[in-house]
Amino acid sequence: MTTAPDRPTPPAPRVADLGNGVWTVPVPIPNNPLGCTLVYVLETDAGPVLVDSGWDDPISYRALVDGLVEVGTSIEDVHGVLVTHAHPDHHGLSEKVREVSGAWVALHAADAEQVEQINNAPRAAWLRHHLEVLTLAGAPQDALDALTGLRTAAAGNRPRLHYAVPDRELVHGELAPAPGRTVRTVWTPGHTPGHVCLHLEGGDGRLLSGDHLLPSITPHIGLYDEAEEADPLGDFLASLTRVARLPITGVLPAHEHAFTDAAGRAAEVARLHEVRLAALHARLRAASPTLWQIAEGMDWNRPWAQLGAQNRQLALSEAAAHLRHLVKRGRATAEPGGDPVRYTAL
Ligand SMILES: [Zn+2]
Ligand SMILES: [Zn+2]
Repeated sequence: MTTAPDRPTPPAPRVADLGNGVWTVPVPIPNNPLGCTLVYVLETDAGPVLVDSGWDDPISYRALVDGLVEVGTSIEDVHGVLVTHAHPDHHGLSEKVREVSGAWVALHAADAEQVEQINNAPRAAWLRHHLEVLTLAGAPQDALDALTGLRTAAAGNRPRLHYAVPDRELVHGELAPAPGRTVRTVWTPGHTPGHVCLHLEGGDGRLLSGDHLLPSITPHIGLYDEAEEADPLGDFLASLTRVARLPITGVLPAHEHAFTDAAGRAAEVARLHEVRLAALHARLRAASPTLWQIAEGMDWNRPWAQLGAQNRQLALSEAAAHLRHLVKRGRATAEPGGDPVRYTAL
């Protein structure tokens, strides 16, 4: 998932031959401003290998099946699925593809762990935990009620989210399983703990960037791990530097469109976060806000009052990731004994 600003919808992307045995197949994400996931098809000696699979919905699946036919292959022929990260718009259809084709599914170990947690998390425990987090953040009662309502509605309307457990692991610095091609795994934690980019080596140089690096929008960076040592924003900034150092000839992202200047875009995204960190630090100097107040005061793609419960949850998690990173830099601290917890600048 990413944070997408409101803007006019660009023309829908189409199945296209990107040269050197790489195709793109846009797979729609129903009712989502992101529009679609760009699934990539890599030609390998063992058959087509997909990079991401798309959202688990009949419309999305049909687009993938038809797209593969347009490429000149079929869903039954898929040899494997390299998953950039365990989000539903990337990993949603992996199980279905595996069922139909017998393909393997590969994911980084840190996101395999997330899959395990999501597949096995009891709903009641999830709700209890998030209510606790919201209370400590200083959320008003209506926000607590909204969360309870959200989970009840989700339970009633949707089948429970269940992800494909991977059968192969993507390891940083090693070659991904794509026979006859040189596809290097580049671990880029931040958006998720196990996000990877895939670098097409062997004279190609293009980077399949997943959600890590996108041409005009930025991925959601949330505090996905509440352990004290976790610093997703710090990880993300380090991952931007990691990618900027690679010899990249072009970027093939999972949303929007291809672009060329990987290092320039990485620097621009890092600057955006530095601006947000500086603004947050200034706020902590002026007052001692709760996390809820911090999130309320940050710039989102629409006014806070118009954000629904789910988007507020994402906003709160993003604010928490920025706050955690300031704490890690020694620029902020939690005031002792607070309930809700208040933060001050250092
Ligand atoms: Zn994502
Ligand atoms: Zn995505």
